[in-house]
Amino acid sequence: MTASKKFERRALRSVKRAASQMEVGRARSGDVMAPTACGHCGKVLDGASHREGHRPKPGHLCVCTGCGGFNLFGSDLQLSALQDDDVRAMGEDYFAEMSVLRSMIRGMRPS
Ligand SMILES: [Zn+2]
Repeated sequence: MTASKKFERRALRSVKRAASQMEVGRARSGDVMAPTACGHCGKVLDGASHREGHRPKPGHLCVCTGCGGFNLFGSDLQLSALQDDDVRAMGEDYFAEMSVLRSMIRGMRPS
């Protein structure tokens, strides 16, 4: 097995573990998060999931369920688009995990 394949498998295991710990949230009466648009595709997102709950905080990364694009929650919890290099700067392992998550989201989209 190549080193990159091992890295990919490790990242996938990590994402699956994180996903199993997530609380999947859906906004009800605005108690989860105020609707905010993806900085890439404009889809309005009104719910979030995170391994520590589903209430986003400023500085959290968001992977859009519409396009898989990376976004950052700002101080007002509005989203701004991030590029791959922005996420890579947060750490190669983190970038690998988020890339696997993005691929999973893109794979779930209806064609
Ligand atoms: Zn999007």
